[in-house]
Amino acid sequence: MTSAVSPVARLPEEWETSLRARGERAFTAKQVFHWIHRRGVLEPASMTNLSGRLREALATEGLGTVATVERIHRAADGTRKLLVRLRDGATIETVLLPAVTGPGARGPLADADADEDDEDDDERGDDAAAETAGKIRVTQCISTQVGCAMGCVFCASGIAGLKRHLGADEIVAQVLLGRALLDEGEALRNVVYMGMGEPLHNYEATARSLRLLTHREGISLSSRRVTVSTSGLIPEIARLGADFGGQIGLAISLHAADDEARGALMPINRKYPLPRLLEALHAYPLPRRRRITIEYTLVSGKNDDPDEARKLVKLLRGLPVKVNLIPMNPIEASPLGPPDWARVEAFQRVLIDAGYSCFIRRQRGDDVSAACGQLVLLGAKPKVKGFRAAPSS
Ligand code: SF4
Repeated sequence: MTSAVSPVARLPEEWETSLRARGERAFTAKQVFHWIHRRGVLEPASMTNLSGRLREALATEGLGTVATVERIHRAADGTRKLLVRLRDGATIETVLLPAVTGPGARGPLADADADEDDEDDDERGDDAAAETAGKIRVTQCISTQVGCAMGCVFCASGIAGLKRHLGADEIVAQVLLGRALLDEGEALRNVVYMGMGEPLHNYEATARSLRLLTHREGISLSSRRVTVSTSGLIPEIARLGADFGGQIGLAISLHAADDEARGALMPINRKYPLPRLLEALHAYPLPRRRRITIEYTLVSGKNDDPDEARKLVKLLRGLPVKVNLIPMNPIEASPLGPPDWARVEAFQRVLIDAGYSCFIRRQRGDDVSAACGQLVLLGAKPKVKGFRAAPSS
């Protein structure tokens, strides 16, 4: 039973091929897939409805624990950051974010599609909606790389640099581990690829993990509940759109409205400048009534002027988008910081007055460094030069 694809990353049809080659019956493939992805059981010895011979073969082939939770940090707001150790000893982080309720409350990363939740549920009556009815909906933010090569100056992962890509099994394992750690009354609702790493820089593994997470025989997340966030890798945006028919949610880390400002915050902009990025977004095969999420981190003194908001309005004209404003979370390795609240609101006002849905993302999990941009690799040192401390007005 050999396959180039690691066991946890294997799709049912691939299990069928490998198991048939061993003389197993076709339904065994579904059983194995259910154990892994529905029940989160990765140890063959615990797969009690399989024959002893098959369990041994699966163990020999390497099916088993992909990753373990080494530490859980729980913030006062219910956010939980999981420090996950991979088989080679590398560590990554994934974050569970329960929805918050009350005036002004909006899920932070769940904002990717939160405002469409109710209308979608009414319309589709999907399995996920039924499963999460009456429960606290949790968004999980997952990582796709150890570190990140993109070097965005406001991001702890970027400051650390890229160590390696994750395999699809390691990406999915985060969700299996996170789901097993949900509190009573919680249900996993959204998965956002907004943790450590640039998902589209690790396209093959990301795409496979998307197929696994949304597979009806497995975790069965609705594809509209899964959002991939990218710094703007244009060829891969087109590929994602083509491979998944635009069904996977797309979020763009934009953070500036002109090439000069964006290039200073995000080195990737020098390779794929804004006109090309906008062209790629207009071409993304977005289903009816869906929108692209624009992520805009407000960095004091860099991109937070109301004039920048006006430029943003112009830039996004004609594109179905919603805008999430994220006051930058301070990170130890960077001298940059967030603007004051009045400036954040002034920025939002410009976008709302221009007719955009625009939300200010609440900071969540600050006391455990789980907020966006804070998925820190220990020992990370700033490697970006040329940025001085922004005035924390
Ligand atoms: S913001 Fe995203 S793409 Fe940029 S460095 Fe951080 S993880 Fe990488």
